[in-house]
Amino acid sequence: MSTATMPVSDRKIKIGATKLLINNEWVGAESGRTFESIDPTNGEVICHVAEADEADVHKAVKAARAAFEPGSKWRKMSATRRGELLYKLAALIEANIDELAKLESIDNGKPYAVAKAADLPLTIACYKYFAGWADKIHGKTIPIGGPYFCYTRPEPVGVCGQIIPWNFPLLMQAWKLAPALACGNTIILKPAEQTPLTALRIGELIVEAGFPAGVVNILPGFGPTAGAAISGHMDIDKVAFTGSTEVGKLIMEAAAKSNLKRITLELGGKSPNIVFADADLDAAVEGSHFALFFNQGQCCCAGSRLFVEEKVYDEFVAKSVERAKKRTVGDPFDPKTEQGPQVDKAQFDKVMSYIDAGKREGAKLLAGGGRKGEKGFFIEPTVFGDVKDEMKIAQEEIFGPVLSIIKFKDLNDVIQRANKSIYGLAAAVWTRDIGKAHAIANGVRAGTVWVNCYDVFDAAAPFGGFKQSGIGRELGEYGLQQYSEIKTVTIKL
Ligand code: NAP
Ligand code: MG
Repeated sequence: MSTATMPVSDRKIKIGATKLLINNEWVGAESGRTFESIDPTNGEVICHVAEADEADVHKAVKAARAAFEPGSKWRKMSATRRGELLYKLAALIEANIDELAKLESIDNGKPYAVAKAADLPLTIACYKYFAGWADKIHGKTIPIGGPYFCYTRPEPVGVCGQIIPWNFPLLMQAWKLAPALACGNTIILKPAEQTPLTALRIGELIVEAGFPAGVVNILPGFGPTAGAAISGHMDIDKVAFTGSTEVGKLIMEAAAKSNLKRITLELGGKSPNIVFADADLDAAVEGSHFALFFNQGQCCCAGSRLFVEEKVYDEFVAKSVERAKKRTVGDPFDPKTEQGPQVDKAQFDKVMSYIDAGKREGAKLLAGGGRKGEKGFFIEPTVFGDVKDEMKIAQEEIFGPVLSIIKFKDLNDVIQRANKSIYGLAAAVWTRDIGKAHAIANGVRAGTVWVNCYDVFDAAAPFGGFKQSGIGRELGEYGLQQYSEIKTVTIKL
């Protein structure tokens, strides 16, 4: 049945695994505890999920370490075969695309049609991209002179802990698992407490694909318990994390204080999106709307500081407000819905408190500003004009459907102001002037710059942050490199 004709009752789908995946077996938590996964459209409990903590992390690390021992099935497996397993996993996800899109929508609140058209294809593409790399990871021979033969050998880092957020549960899992597996590591992955269900379903597909026991272990649980047990573990070699800058710092500290495990961090952002007067204004209005409101505004790279050149400011703001007022908010299973609920009550409350801060600090509320409906965690698409650089809503990550529009004078003024942030994840510029486009692309301190587009992602293009937006890169060849150690071998001839 097509999305367009799917009745809302069809949201009732089969829930897959709800336990911990350790050593290719589904087990309850040692403590016997479970937690609720909530449907954010109505706050109701979808199901109960096993809650991992330190004891379960120890168990999973043992399994992952055994799977990583020299001579294990995984270590003896050829690189080509590792790639084949990843391709197999991609094919299994493709075969279950509808079910996974529904599950993602129910657990996270994002529109089902968006999950199916964006999250799932990007997830599948990521597994395929890294599958192709598996047998193309090799070292170099190096002319060091003298009677020596010198070469390098990329080797897997070892047991990797991976802690992921709730905004793109399937995609963040793919960004973590795919490169790590391509390089031959073993894994303990903790999905976010808000959205464990698709991660667990992927666990079932991983077992079905034929990955050996202990290679991938999936432990739903909470950050301060299961997450902290991973980042501080003495026998985990690397931790990869996506989430807030605040928790990123805790992860780095725990890594340093324990065994100096390697870290990669993908953290928050407050990305400048810059519109010059010479831009195709309608394209810039629509692109900037998408840049902020996509995924309920819950994107680390959201274009949340929208700088508009003063010459077109009034016209742009009027069109932006009109677009935001047209945004359809409601049932994620209604094909007309562009925006579902925020992921949970805590995020809902946080976003509402930023809307209050915007009003208090004197920004002009031009659209929205309130809760939508009585049930669930829906928020009206909200637009603030006349936002000043030093206001809270222009400084801090809101992670919700709240657009802040800021006026600027000229190129030099805007580069300098765009860079006045602790973050440096992404940026964008809208202009027909190639000179201005390059000046922004070169001048803004951010890991990604989009020109006349926004949120264009590909598994081959690296993504990550400058400054407090993170350390290291994901995706592409750079992302792959973060999952190998380089060994130098020198032989006297
Ligand atoms: P978060 O706390 O940073 O959560 C991200 C992940 O880290 C979750 O799996 C979380 O576990 C885990 N975690 C939390 N505390 C931990 C600790 N002490 N040690 C190890 N792991 C820990 O983010 P959040 O609370 O969900 O959201 C708060 C804000 O973070 C948002 O409003 C947004 O600004 C930002 N955020 C950014 C991204 C991004 O893509 N960069 C994604 C999500 C959120 P739990 O399951 O218990 O939370
Ligand atoms: Mg949920």
